[in-house]
Amino acid sequence: MDANEKVAYLRGLMDGMKMSDDDDTAKVLRSIIDVLGDFAEDIDELSELYDDLADQVDEIDQDLSIVEDDLYDEEDDDYDDFDEDGEYYEVVCPKCSDEICVSEDVLIEGGIKCPNCGENLEFDFSSLTADEINSED
Ligand SMILES: [Zn+2]
Repeated sequence: MDANEKVAYLRGLMDGMKMSDDDDTAKVLRSIIDVLGDFAEDIDELSELYDDLADQVDEIDQDLSIVEDDLYDEEDDDYDDFDEDGEYYEVVCPKCSDEICVSEDVLIEGGIKCPNCGENLEFDFSSLTADEINSED
């Protein structure tokens, strides 16, 4: 029995008591049942909204984990080379167009092998602004 059905049941009991419409107790009871009816409808509506919302959150969660998987799959291999506090730069391999994260140390060394296609990448410092190179100050 959901809340609406319980209120309907109460209304039935109330009618069965055959109290006079002028009876003060009857007025109070009818008012209370009316209020309960309003609550029951609101709860019904909220439950529906909540279910919709929960479904949407589920969908977002699934989409997000797909994005996370994609993101971390690509970066995991390179993580070991990173030192904890360093600055990282994204470079794009001119041969396979793979995006590679490199640490500042690697940049300063001037080159890295593309982990995707093995192409030797040399970094052209002129393509970076002075701000990026000196970002640690
Ligand atoms: Zn490459």
